[in-house]
Amino acid sequence: MRERHPDVVVVGGGLVGLAIAHGLLRQKLRVTVCDEGDRDFRASRGNFGLVWVQGKGVNSPPYARLTSHSARLWPDYARQLQRDSGIDPGHTRRGGLSLCLEIDELAEKSAAMAALKAHTPGFDYEVLDAAGVRRFLPGASPDIAGGIYSPQDGHVNPLQTLHALLAAFEALGGTYLPRCRVDDVSHRAGAFSLTTSGPTLQTARIVLAAGLGNARLAPLVGLYAPVLPVRGQVMITERVAPFLPYPTTSVRQTTEGTVQIGDSQERVGLDDGTLPEVLVNMARRAIALFPLLRSAQVVRTWGALRIMTPDGLPLYEESRSHPGAFVATCHSGVTLAAAHSELIAPWIAGNDAPTLLETFDGARFAL
Ligand SMILES: Cc1cc2nc3c(=O)[nH]c(=O)nc-3n(C[C@H](O)[C@H](O)[C@H](O)COP(=O)(O)OP(=O)(O)OC[C@H]3O[C@@H](n4cnc5c(N)ncnc54)[C@H](O)[C@@H]3O)c2cc1C
Repeated sequence: MRERHPDVVVVGGGLVGLAIAHGLLRQKLRVTVCDEGDRDFRASRGNFGLVWVQGKGVNSPPYARLTSHSARLWPDYARQLQRDSGIDPGHTRRGGLSLCLEIDELAEKSAAMAALKAHTPGFDYEVLDAAGVRRFLPGASPDIAGGIYSPQDGHVNPLQTLHALLAAFEALGGTYLPRCRVDDVSHRAGAFSLTTSGPTLQTARIVLAAGLGNARLAPLVGLYAPVLPVRGQVMITERVAPFLPYPTTSVRQTTEGTVQIGDSQERVGLDDGTLPEVLVNMARRAIALFPLLRSAQVVRTWGALRIMTPDGLPLYEESRSHPGAFVATCHSGVTLAAAHSELIAPWIAGNDAPTLLETFDGARFAL
C-alpha cells in the first residue's frame, strides 16, 4: 500500500530522477520512482561522466552559476552518496582540460572562457600552449595548438554513479518500480492519480524526470517540455597503462585503464545507433591529441541520446494549473546531479524555489 500512496512519485529512474528522489528521501518524504525500462532511451547509461564547468553557460550567466554551484557541491555529495549506498561513484575534481588542434579553435575557446569568467564568481581557468598542456598531460601531442585548463572540472564513473544513486535510494527506504511506464496522469482535489503499466499510484506531488519522455508527459499536468534528442557516439578502448591524469572533453581514462572517446553531437531523431564515419573521425582526433592511442584496440562503441531543450538550458518548473506537479530535465545530468539532490529536492519538498533556479521555467519557450 505504501508504494501506491507515497508523498512523491518521481517518473523516470535515470540520473535526474534518482538524484532528485535521493534528495527527497533525505527530506524525510516517502518516495516512489517508476521507470519504463531497459529498452527505452536512457542517456544515463551511455554518457561520458564529466562533471564539467568550463564552457557551460558562456551565454547564460544563470546556467554558469548553477553548473559551478553543482560542481562545488559534488565532493560532499559523492561522500554522502557513498555513505548512503556503500558504492563509490568515483568522483574526482582535480581539474580538466579541453584541447585544441588548431590555433583558431584555441582563440575562440579563450574568448569564451574570458566571457564565462566575467560573469561567474569563482570560475578559474588557464590558457595553455602545447608545452603547457604537456605539463598536465605528458602523453599529449607536441603538435596541438594548446588547451584550456580549469581546476573546477572533474569526472565520475557514470555507471557507478547511477548504481550508487539507485542503491542509496533503496537503502534509504525508497520504492523503485522497474518496467513501470506511466501512461496517464489525472488530477482531482489536489491529488494525482497515475495510470501505469503496473500499479495505479496516488500522490500529492509528482516529478516528471522522464528524459525524452517528458515531452509527452508534461502536457498531462499543464507543463510544456519541448525536449529533443541529440545523439552522442562513444567508444571504449582496451585497458592501457595510465597516461591521462586529467579528463578532457573528448578523451578520458577510467580508473580501470580503459579510454573513453567521444563527443559527437548529431540531430538524427530517435536513433541511438552508431555510424562508422563518425567513430573514425572521433578516433582520428583522439590519436591526433594522444598519439599513443594509435595502438589501442577499441572494444566497444555505442550511441546514446542527449535530452535537449530548444535553448540547451535546463528546465525546472512547477505547474500553475496542477500545483504539486514538477518537471526537471537538462542535458548535463551528471554535472547537475549534486544540485538536483541538494537544491531541487528541497524545493519540491515544499521549500522556496532557490534563486539559482529562477530563470529555468518553461515560460521562455512561449511564443
Ligand atoms: C553521449 C552522451 C554523453 C554525455 N556526457 C555527459 C557528461 O559528460 N556530463 C554530463 O553532465 N552529462 C552528460 N550527458 C548527459 C547526461 O547523460 C544526461 O543529462 C542524463 O543522463 C539525463 O538523465 P535523465 O534521467 O534526464 O534521462 P534518462 O537517462 O534518459 O532517463 C529517463 C528515464 O525515464 C524513463 N521514462 C521515460 N518515459 C517514461 C514513462 N512514461 N514512464 C516511466 N518512465 C519513463 C526512461 O525509461 C528512462 O530510464 C551525456 C549524454 C550523452 C548521450
